[in-house]
Amino acid sequence: MQHILGIDGLSDADITAILDCAQAYADGLRQPELLRGRIVFSLFFENSTRTRVSFETAAKRLGAEVVNWSPGASSVAKGESFADTIATLAAMRPDAIIMRHTENRAPHMVAERALCPVINGGDGTRAHPTQALLDALTLRQARGQVQGLTLVYCGDIAHSRVAGSGMEIFRRLGARIRIVAPPAFMPMDLPPGVEAFTRMEDGMPGADVVIPIRPQNERMDTALIDDAGYAAAWGLTPQRLALAAPGALVMAPGPIRRGVEIDGAVADDPARSLILKQVANGVFVRMAVLDLLLAER
Ligand code: ASP
Repeated sequence: MQHILGIDGLSDADITAILDCAQAYADGLRQPELLRGRIVFSLFFENSTRTRVSFETAAKRLGAEVVNWSPGASSVAKGESFADTIATLAAMRPDAIIMRHTENRAPHMVAERALCPVINGGDGTRAHPTQALLDALTLRQARGQVQGLTLVYCGDIAHSRVAGSGMEIFRRLGARIRIVAPPAFMPMDLPPGVEAFTRMEDGMPGADVVIPIRPQNERMDTALIDDAGYAAAWGLTPQRLALAAPGALVMAPGPIRRGVEIDGAVADDPARSLILKQVANGVFVRMAVLDLLLAER
């Protein structure tokens, strides 16, 4: 593993190694302070709460120093191009770059220019590999294994990098994948083997895990569906969750909007919702990724 740009760039062995290493951190079995003296750049060209803070926490738990950069307070605001900004930052020789960008494949361009590992914290509508890894870890912990489970991604699948990377990792781990999407949010190409529905009532029966994906309105000129209409037809309510398999679990990448894509009672149900467990596991997965990419260098 040189970089983490997408699930497609990881072998099955890489995925297992990351999940096992993350589990070791979760169990307190792995040595901290592994990255003392290393400097990690955190370059977020797009808003983030969980991913940015989680990476920073992970790096600091391993003893690394984190340099945070954001475009609003930088020379991007003076008209510097993305390529020149990246060349400038790479010339400072960080030990790793964590980045998020609105453009698909922007991290690939950085990986070609930087002399250090690049970790994708989300690019456009394309990929969010550490989210997929933390989702896989969370489900593996909750159910012992992913193989044979039926997962339903519902909502804005077309614009969601979380759904894209998630479907990829879970298919490779042997899950059955369904999507339920409003026609406006149905992807043009479905990954092989994925079943698609437009009504929640049709996609829910037999689901072991339901993953609501909010409309990614920031990627559209205007919201394609208003919040009330979305909630009425595709919101994950206790009644709709009751159509899934008994004891079905709920995961969500966040941010969640209560009363729109997920009912507050579902999000807060301690027997069903894994949402905060996902957040906790995000730190362990990102520790594992930094560890595996950097410790031996
Ligand atoms: N936080 C996730 C992402 O960055 C999901 C979302 O924003 O809906 O893609």
